[in-house]
Amino acid sequence: MSSSTLSHLECPRCKNTLEYSRPQNLCPKCASPLLARYNLEKAKATFSAAALKTRISSMWRYEEVLPAATPVTLGEGMTPLIHARRLGDSLGLGHLYIKDEGQNPTNSFKARGLSAAVTMAKALGIATVALPTAGNAGGAAAAYAAHAGLGCAIAMPVDTPSAIILECRAFGAEVHLIDGLISDCGAFIAEQAPRHGWFEVSTLKEPYRIEGKKTMGYELWEDFGGTLPDVIVYPTGGGVGLIGMWKAFEELEAMTLIGSKRPRMIAAQADGCAPIVRAFEHHANTSEKWENASTVASGLRVPKPLGDFLILEDIYASHGEAVAASDAELMSACLDMARLEGILGAPESGAGLAAIQKLVSAKKIGRDETVVLFSTGGGYKYMEAWQSALGS
Ligand SMILES: *Cc1c(COP(=O)(O)O)cnc(C)c1O
Repeated sequence: MSSSTLSHLECPRCKNTLEYSRPQNLCPKCASPLLARYNLEKAKATFSAAALKTRISSMWRYEEVLPAATPVTLGEGMTPLIHARRLGDSLGLGHLYIKDEGQNPTNSFKARGLSAAVTMAKALGIATVALPTAGNAGGAAAAYAAHAGLGCAIAMPVDTPSAIILECRAFGAEVHLIDGLISDCGAFIAEQAPRHGWFEVSTLKEPYRIEGKKTMGYELWEDFGGTLPDVIVYPTGGGVGLIGMWKAFEELEAMTLIGSKRPRMIAAQADGCAPIVRAFEHHANTSEKWENASTVASGLRVPKPLGDFLILEDIYASHGEAVAASDAELMSACLDMARLEGILGAPESGAGLAAIQKLVSAKKIGRDETVVLFSTGGGYKYMEAWQSALGS
């Protein structure tokens, strides 16, 4: 990737800078997540809507603003933006769109982040990647590691949807089932990693999963012909995509491809694990650990996101919202999406739709606004959830 303009890594908290030519996890000074920084002045010379038209149809088309390495790719990104007319009608919204991330490899948008993270891990000579997961990140990591010829160690809660456990094993990963939550799985990986020489690709513990997920922001900009929607609804666990899209918008502005107007960023969570919603309601800048987290939307079961301060900063700066729904509400929203649009979304996607339903009722989303719902994953791995939602 000769046209990458990656220049260094930066800590958004203490502004420490680091080289990207060595594997890096958190900021060695303050333990904050690190962000990749580019020479956008240079990127600007070749990055344009017209230039993009001639490039490959995967997220790797945004080469100026992605890391410099040979991509480990399974065709991630460039997912369809579907005008949800019938669902929109049912809500009185004329411009409701669904970005169907379920059409990514391994059925979720985790493919974007893990494609980028595994690409850099391989380029930097890592032999085995490791991560805790509440669900889809494990499947994606295992698939990309298999494609790259790297080892992959995964820790996940015993009650993770069985299809996800099976896909990880099928992709040849070493799977550790933990009787606990993703935070317990994270502690397990952090403890085991140095012993086995594993490189941690846990959410925000390395800088490139954000880079993969930020491509959702670039795609929206392309999908809407060089503009952005009014509202983006994002089912939020660790918040990587929300932080990533915000970063993409800043980069687009720095390249003078958009102005300073931003979409309102809506974080959708589940009642059983809503640390960002609680922090938002208290106008706090960080979250507090959610005790006894429990929800069928396994990807949202993140009791204390590492990047909580970044998620909240972006929500406040965009005049956004954070909204939680019960498991019954989010599964019922999933059924609405399935029956009105023919899209079988993951329960996490249902949380996003339930948030829209609530914000429309509260008149916080207007009829004429352009709203994008991220259906972050497909519903096909969640048989247990469908069985209870549909009864029998
Ligand atoms: C992981 C996951 C999420 C949460 O993503 P974050 O970027 O960690 O907030 C949402 N939906 C699905 C389907 C997921 O797999």
